[in-house]
Amino acid sequence: MQFIYDFEEGRRTDKALLGGKGANLAEMTHLGLPVPPGFTITTECCMTYLKEETFFDTQLKKQILEAIQRLEEKTNKSFTSRESLLLVSVRSGAKFSMPGMMDTILNLGLNDQRVRGFTRTTSLAFAYDCYRRLLQMYGDVVFGIPKEEFYELLEKKEQALGKPADSFFLNEQEELIALYKQQFIAHQRVFPQDPFEQLFEATKAVFRSWNNQRAKVYRELNHIPYHLGTAVNIQSMVFGNSGNQSGTGVVFTRNPATGEHVLFGEFLLNAQGEDVVAGIRTPEPIADLKEKLPTAYADFVHYAQVLEDHYKDMQDIEFTIENGQLYILQTRDGKRTAKAALTIALDLVTEGVITKETALTRISPEMIDQLIHPIFDEQAIKEARLIATGLPASPGAATGVVVFTADAAKEFHNTGKKVILVRQETSPEDIEGMVVSEAIVTSRGGMTSHAAVVARGMGTCCITGCEALTVDEQNKQVKCGELVLTEGDILSVDGTSGNLFLNEIPTVIAENNDDLQRLLAWADEVAELRVRANAETVLDLTTAMDFGATGIGLARTEHMFFGAERVLEMRRLILADSDQEAQDALDRLVTFQQEDFYQMYQTVQDKPMVIRLLDPPMHEFLPHEPNEIRQLARKLGKSPLVVEEQIRRLQETNPMLGHRGCRLGITTPAIYQMQVCAIFTSIFRLLDEGQTIVPEIMIPLIAEEEELLHVKQFLIETIDALFEEAGIEPISYEIGTMIELPRACLIADDLAQEADFFSFGTNDLTQMTYGFSRDDIGKFINSYTEKKIMKSDPFQHLDQKGVGALIRIAVEKARQTKPGMLIGVCGEVGGDPESIAFFAEIGVDYVSCSPFRIPAARLAVAQAALANKKVPIPVTQ
Ligand code: PEP
Ligand code: MG
Repeated sequence: MQFIYDFEEGRRTDKALLGGKGANLAEMTHLGLPVPPGFTITTECCMTYLKEETFFDTQLKKQILEAIQRLEEKTNKSFTSRESLLLVSVRSGAKFSMPGMMDTILNLGLNDQRVRGFTRTTSLAFAYDCYRRLLQMYGDVVFGIPKEEFYELLEKKEQALGKPADSFFLNEQEELIALYKQQFIAHQRVFPQDPFEQLFEATKAVFRSWNNQRAKVYRELNHIPYHLGTAVNIQSMVFGNSGNQSGTGVVFTRNPATGEHVLFGEFLLNAQGEDVVAGIRTPEPIADLKEKLPTAYADFVHYAQVLEDHYKDMQDIEFTIENGQLYILQTRDGKRTAKAALTIALDLVTEGVITKETALTRISPEMIDQLIHPIFDEQAIKEARLIATGLPASPGAATGVVVFTADAAKEFHNTGKKVILVRQETSPEDIEGMVVSEAIVTSRGGMTSHAAVVARGMGTCCITGCEALTVDEQNKQVKCGELVLTEGDILSVDGTSGNLFLNEIPTVIAENNDDLQRLLAWADEVAELRVRANAETVLDLTTAMDFGATGIGLARTEHMFFGAERVLEMRRLILADSDQEAQDALDRLVTFQQEDFYQMYQTVQDKPMVIRLLDPPMHEFLPHEPNEIRQLARKLGKSPLVVEEQIRRLQETNPMLGHRGCRLGITTPAIYQMQVCAIFTSIFRLLDEGQTIVPEIMIPLIAEEEELLHVKQFLIETIDALFEEAGIEPISYEIGTMIELPRACLIADDLAQEADFFSFGTNDLTQMTYGFSRDDIGKFINSYTEKKIMKSDPFQHLDQKGVGALIRIAVEKARQTKPGMLIGVCGEVGGDPESIAFFAEIGVDYVSCSPFRIPAARLAVAQAALANKKVPIPVTQ
């Protein structure tokens, strides 16, 4: 079996076997670039060695010896003799780049004898500098001896002799080397003098470094599977530290922060690669190389262009110059900010290098989120104090003063302060406080809790389920371990990561709007799924339209009862003692709703809009604090004790499984009747003004065909009566249902007989399928993911295996009954790129998500369509 590939043998497509670095070194060798010769030991060897160490001696060693022999022939140098020294570098290189995560050893092959030979072709100072570096790197990587111990020895010796190491005489250099070797002994180790032993041990150490803590954490963070392993690249050394005609550098072919089309990077004269990384000396900007080493600079500019043209993407290139001669040591697609990714992708299309389709695969939906939300300054966040982490419920970044009640939020806001509303959880009563807050943090609740849904709708940054916080709203304080914060203290909230920081952190916003519009217009050209929005306020509807929603997939009417005046009427209705009192409340509510619907239809114009009839259990509209109950009783002219008793009676043991959704419509038809009355009377006005509307009315939480029939029946009767009363020719309208209960999925063929359209409510469907409370999942999901019981929160990423299977069955059954039936998804996963790919695959017509998720969803649906057409989407950018 072939365990080793010379650079001449591999290609860029061999990343799985040769690692990214090895595959690109091979590719560059093919392209005829000045790459020092070498070979790559495959990733498979790493995994085999980690499982069975004897593999190294019994099988791999022989091939390494042969590869070194080939390298000696190619370079016309020797790995063992004291003349014409072949020295090598040993570097790790996994399939996906893991910058700085694994280990490197340079100058390998030097020993006490060979270093003397080396001094004859270089200089005393240079040869010993290389040897010391080898001892230090080898000690660190192979034996775990801290690098600092060697630095200390160097410093002490320089002080003792009163001169820098590059002025040492031979005996002084040798004394210092002896001290370095002594340091190995102090750790019960010996530095091997045999170059082959050095090479074998270094290779094994690089294999082992796949298991070091840094690598593990990086893999975890970037979802890189363990089984991939790392390759080991062994390459003949070129020396950037051999004088002032030499140097080393790292350069991006375009600016990785802004995307600007200029070379961006740094170099150091007379230095080896790790000097740039270590930050001991300050590197110079690459443009200055033009003056210092003009020929090498011109060569570099040329090869940088060759590489970018070849890879058709911005490259991150490492180079070394040895005595004026340029060598390229590495190239890879450069990591970049979201802003740069967008600029570069668009520029490459303009330059004719890539197609629009390829450009769409170069940006991730997460990057789009970064482009439309402010984010914390990268540098500042590194220095900030992280105090807790919760669920990243709504992206964005904000700083403000801590408040604990909606009233306090309003008060502080009115004095011009930015506020962060911190609560155990939020309820509809908090809405006015939420509207004025920069960010919302709750200690309880999941990704689909009230706070999360409302915040996403408003585009307000939000963290939910931040269990490390103990929020005491009464005493206006929040505890987090030892830390106690009170009203007015400053917090910074990162809704994209779920991290909560103490004090202010500056934010930045990418201003790439025109560019983003251009990209998303291309996305719409290839998309098959459409993207609608979940929105009900004029502000949210406008945002949704601006972000390119093709319609509204879910207008939750309960959100329209949140304002103080409306909640009062809703409460009056719920607690009414007489029909008359109930009717009075309904009359006032209908007026509010008429105006709401009128404005909503005006905002969406000719776009479709699904209006969902009331869904939550009634007691969600009622107060629970004694103080608020007393105030309400006073306003309604009732006895507080009676009101308290009424509220108590309305409480349910399992409200999510209780008196809600269409069940409300069945027990209290007057509410749904009031709602359709408001919808249609607002439409009458709009028809009069010349607007064409096909209303889409949706009934929530259907489990039985009879439920749907019953509700539909009285809605139709109400609507017929409205047309008749108004003397208007009836227009066509649609009555559809949410599919959010497992039973509804299984009888979807029957429901499709009666429904004009379906929309999957994946929030409830996930809740009901798993039996996980959508508001309490924050209490345990972290343990589940940490213990690898589940990969992710199913309210954030669709559980394709279970909930997805139900959806697939329902779509198939519905289409058997009505082949062309419109089917959408309006739960939160409708905005999740990973879930969108699944919905595209099973033939859903549209996804619907909160307005601020629309741009990312538009890209995700385009990527799903391209994936079906087999345009490869890179796993990492
Ligand atoms: C759902 O259940 O997925 C849904 C969209 O409805 P709601 O979140 O309002 O219950
Ligand atoms: Mg629901």
